[in-house]
Formats: sequence, C-alpha cells, structure tokens
Amino acid sequence: RREPVTITVTGAAGQIGYALLFRVAAGAMFGPEVPVRLRLLEVPDALRAAEGVILELEDCAFPLLAGVEVFDDANRALDGASVAVLVGARPRTAGMERSDLLAANAGIFAPQGRAINDHAAEDIRVVVVGNPANTNALIAQSHAPDVPAARFSALTRLDHNRALAQVAKRVGIDPGHVRRLSIWGNHSSTQYPDLSNVTIDGVAGHPRLADETWIRDEFIPRVAGRGAEIIEVRGRSSAASAANAIIDHVRDWAGGTAPDDWTSAALLSRGEYGVPEGIFCSFPVVSAGQDWQVVPDLELDAGARKSIAASVDEILWERQVVQARGLL
Ligand code: NDP
Repeated sequence: RREPVTITVTGAAGQIGYALLFRVAAGAMFGPEVPVRLRLLEVPDALRAAEGVILELEDCAFPLLAGVEVFDDANRALDGASVAVLVGARPRTAGMERSDLLAANAGIFAPQGRAINDHAAEDIRVVVVGNPANTNALIAQSHAPDVPAARFSALTRLDHNRALAQVAKRVGIDPGHVRRLSIWGNHSSTQYPDLSNVTIDGVAGHPRLADETWIRDEFIPRVAGRGAEIIEVRGRSSAASAANAIIDHVRDWAGGTAPDDWTSAALLSRGEYGVPEGIFCSFPVVSAGQDWQVVPDLELDAGARKSIAASVDEILWERQVVQARGLL
C-alpha cells in the first residue's frame, strides 16, 4: 500500500464538488492501490454544507480515504497538496459584465496561487475548473513564481469528452474507438473542436466525419453549446460530467495518456502553433506521467487557424482586462 496522495478541492460544497469527491475517495483518480487524503476549501457561508459532505464521505467507509478536512483558509487547505482542483469561482449573475466577473475571480485565484506557491507539495499539479477557467489559471499561475508553470492547467477535458461522444454517435460506435481529437482555444463557446486528425479504430479519414456542413452547422455548435443545452434540459449546469472530466484529466496527467492517442488541456502557451506566449490555451496534449506536452507538428488548414485565432483573441482580451486592473 502506497503513501496517501493529498488532493485539495475548492468549492467543495458545490454541485461539481458533490459529484467529484465520492469518486475520488473511491479511487477513480489514482486507482485502487493509492489512498487519498482530501483537503476541502470553502467560503465561510458554505463551511457547514461542506461538513455535511464530510459526514457522507465518512458514511461510505471508503477503504482508500485516509482523511478529510475542511478549511476556509486557502493556505491551510493547500498545505501539502499534490493535486489542487480549483472549482470554486464567483458565479455569473444577471447583468454582470464579463470584465467584472474576471476581476471578482482574480480576488479568488490570486491568493490561491500564492497559497500553492507557499504551501503545496513539490509535485503539485493544478487544474482550474472555475470559469473563466483559462484566465483564472493564468492569475493563479502568475502568483506562484516558484512553481514550474507546467504544473498549472485549465480543464478542457469535458469539451474533449463531449466531442468524442458526438463523433461516436455520428459514426455509430462507442467513444472508446475514437482517438486524436483536439480542443483548441478558450474553455468557452469560442473553442475550436478539431476533427482533422481523428482516427476510428486507428484509421483516419472516416467518410461520416468528412462532411463540412455537419461539422460547421451541427458538430461544433453542439459541442461548444453543450453546457447551455444541459442547463436547459436538466435545469442545472453540468456537474457529474464535469467531475468525470476532472478525474480523466488528473488520471491521464499523473498516469500517462494512452499510446496512439492524445487528449486536450489548457496550458500556458510557449508559442506553440502561433498561439502567443503567456496565455492559457487549450491544445492537444500527451503525458508520460510527468508534465503535459503539446502534441507537435500537426497540420492546421486556413479555416482551423482562423477559428483558433478567434478563440485566442478572446483569451487575450480576458488577459488584457485583468492586466489593466493590475490583477496579474
Ligand atoms: P458548480 O460546482 O456547479 O461550478 C463551479 C465552477 O465550475 C463554476 O465557476 C462553473 O462555471 C465552473 N465550471 C466549469 N466547467 C463547468 C461545466 N462544464 N459545467 C458546470 N460548471 C462548470 O457551482 P456551485 O455554485 O454548485 O458551487 C460552487 C461552490 O464554490 C460553492 O459552494 C461556493 O461556496 C464555492 N466557492 C468557493 C470559493 C473558495 O473556495 N474560495 C470561492 C467561490 C465560491 P460557470 O459559473 O460558468 O457555470
């Protein structure tokens, strides 16, 4: 039996937290051999609800759960963390400007970045879920100068999984046969889900995926608008699928991606594919169990470049807003 892994989850009393914590405690992130220690962060008003979640975690008698504590102080919650899942964020409220939302979130993610810098474990891996995730990741990362930037990521795995599911439906197979799909850009409706390298059972160029009209008018809007569709149909935002994507992301990052495949994650750009340095942008990525690596040397046609550039422009605008307010 191995040493427990310490995992910090912020916004732990929220609906994603509720869908996430039980699966993590059951071993879904690090497998059946690795105990986990959970450290939860909540705002003071939600501490009691988080304590209620802890009571339920206890009642599961999970053999792998080595301990769980809740805090309202980021420094304590992130102390010794090897994984930080940053879910808690300022929700959008009616009439709120996007620039005010960005600023409000800076007030959450800057201190959490500092807490990661000062208190997390050497091997910390950070995944930002709370929206606007790419820019929140940049704020946290920029306040953690002593942590390698490659240890920070923002979640686009749910977009990736949504796209896999739509492709599988279109072809009439299970999603496990679909590989090499890519999500580029911002975790927002401007993202670019890219099918140009997709293989089905190892074979590229499936005829059902070559229909440009389907891609433009159905596939891309479906994937990019899936969050809104879930809210409309379910009456609440996606939670279980978001939690599932968080688990996939951390599991593949720490455990490695499958051979012949890649996944998608937003990383701090070092200029790959012409994306300007210094913003978090979603790329196709692989991991061998250490850091994410952007998949090199993919061909992008003019249409793909234009779509990625439009999403990158949105990320650049977000960065400009937080920079102009002195929040980076
Ligand atoms: P959820 O758990 O549903 O969502 C939390 C965040 O995840 C939101 O920013 C949400 O963005 C984002 N998100 C990213 N991708 C997805 C997706 N695919 N589907 C749904 N959400 C997604 O929110 P709740 O309101 O239920 O819970 C939030 C909790 O966070 C509350 O308990 C609150 O007290 C806490 N909180 C904690 C903070 C802290 O620990 N310091 C700070 C602020 C809040 P979007 O808004 O765009 O849906």
